[in-house]
Amino acid sequence: LLISFVLFARTVTVGTSADFPPFEYIENGQFVGFDMDLMREIAKIAGFELKFVDMSFDSLIPALRAGQIDVAAAAMTITEERKKVVDFSMPYWSADQSIIVKADSDFTITVLFGKYRIGVQTGTTGDLWCTENLVQKGLLPERNLKRYDTFILALSDLLNGNIDAIVLDSPVANRFAATKPVKVVGIIVTGEQYGIAVRKGNKELLDKINQALKTLIETGKINELIDKYF
Ligand code: GLN
Repeated sequence: LLISFVLFARTVTVGTSADFPPFEYIENGQFVGFDMDLMREIAKIAGFELKFVDMSFDSLIPALRAGQIDVAAAAMTITEERKKVVDFSMPYWSADQSIIVKADSDFTITVLFGKYRIGVQTGTTGDLWCTENLVQKGLLPERNLKRYDTFILALSDLLNGNIDAIVLDSPVANRFAATKPVKVVGIIVTGEQYGIAVRKGNKELLDKINQALKTLIETGKINELIDKYF
């Protein structure tokens, strides 16, 4: 019985963008972080094997739709736009956007954004917020909004002085502020919720994920992951 279970255990391919501590990052060549362990716990309960694949955040939904991955676990905000093309699990985390700058910066959000160069990760809700509320309203010239494939690149540009600020999810901003020479200077209340995404119509996998999430919450197991990473 055990052998047949091992043989037939299905492998679920999980796409992530491993530049987003404490949700997903690489440590000693391993995928670690809250989302990664959450997926491992879900897989244990649901009885499938996992394979993680790293890609840029804006490649996740196309990869999901193309069948290259089965799940996107990447601190992904549930939005109406995304819900048109993928299905989301129940929400498992809440976040807003934060503005981070170099620790010694005199950046102040009381002046117009216009003179600043702002970095975002392409296709994120931070990108969307800056595009809709700054660029499209004429508060920030399009050329001053720099879009990056990864936050690793955005952070190095921030530290090098190539950009003045980054807009990103508040929990990750707080983590960077605690571990890098950057500080949080403002919060944009967007009231986002993260979900695990699957291909549209993949009800079988989504039901398993939701069922496992419920179990992790009810048993308090999820609190162990929260304590580990936050
Ligand atoms: N939560 C944000 C979004 O969904 C950012 C996610 C990320 O960069 N990994 O767009």
